[in-house]
Amino acid sequence: MMPQHDDFYDVYSKAKKIKIKWPHGARLAVALAGNLEAWTEIPNPKHRRTHHVGGSNPIKEDDVVSLYDCRTASENDYGGRTGVWRILRILDKYGVKASFNTNALCIHRYPEAVKAVHQRGHEIVGHSYAEDLQLIHLTEEQEREEIRTCAKMFQDFVGVRPTGWLTSGMRHTERTLGILADEGFSWHGDAVNDDNPYPVKINGKTMIIVPYKNAISGLNDTGMYRRGIIARDIFQSFKDEFDILYEESAQEPKMLTLAMHCQMAFPATGKVYDECIKYAKSFPDIWFAKRCEIVEWVKKNCL
Ligand SMILES: [Zn+2]
Repeated sequence: MMPQHDDFYDVYSKAKKIKIKWPHGARLAVALAGNLEAWTEIPNPKHRRTHHVGGSNPIKEDDVVSLYDCRTASENDYGGRTGVWRILRILDKYGVKASFNTNALCIHRYPEAVKAVHQRGHEIVGHSYAEDLQLIHLTEEQEREEIRTCAKMFQDFVGVRPTGWLTSGMRHTERTLGILADEGFSWHGDAVNDDNPYPVKINGKTMIIVPYKNAISGLNDTGMYRRGIIARDIFQSFKDEFDILYEESAQEPKMLTLAMHCQMAFPATGKVYDECIKYAKSFPDIWFAKRCEIVEWVKKNCL
């Protein structure tokens, strides 16, 4: 049973830190994440993802007469149509694997991309049905149904069920962790309260929390133009985080996440992802690992 009211977050905040060690004495685990996302683009201005990427003045929803916001839809569509192939190419170039947070709707919108992600050995992580549908709007029953449906869609399409889950917008609820445990997931990725993974016991199971990247860290490509930074700034943030974690990892091994959103994988951003991976590769004692590999390792060696 999940504790109620203001105690609900205890399950994360009071979770015990564990002693991390990585394979072959690696100091830093570099966990690359790709985000393959799709929006419903439903003809309701209230649900539109508007003016998020940058560009012209924000639209006033009340003034909109046209049914669709084609411009935003086109920006959103860059990811599954174009950006994903750039990220896959760069990952291939360096021979590294990533965990792709994938909206289940991508199976319909971008079937070739979802197939390619799976076939090239990357991990598919359950990431809600669509980017604009968030769990916080759902009842417990609907939330369970959504999580279950997404897992089944990937199972049916690529033949493998995701073992991990990241909620779209990271907006999980006080129920998400318990539902994931019930539905057979082994890890949950929404928390941002730690640099390293940690276990929590819930509904009689042990779930591994694999923290994601806090959007305010500067190492976030989705918000870059809104926040007045450019792709090049992301490399500096990556390098800064890498350097500090690498230094600290002399005492205790650490994990660093680089999230690469397909819809932001413009040529200039791609160059930066490329440089980030190249920089990490220039150090010894780095473990490039998919989140599922980190989870399996932690369960066997760190609990
Ligand atoms: Zn997302």
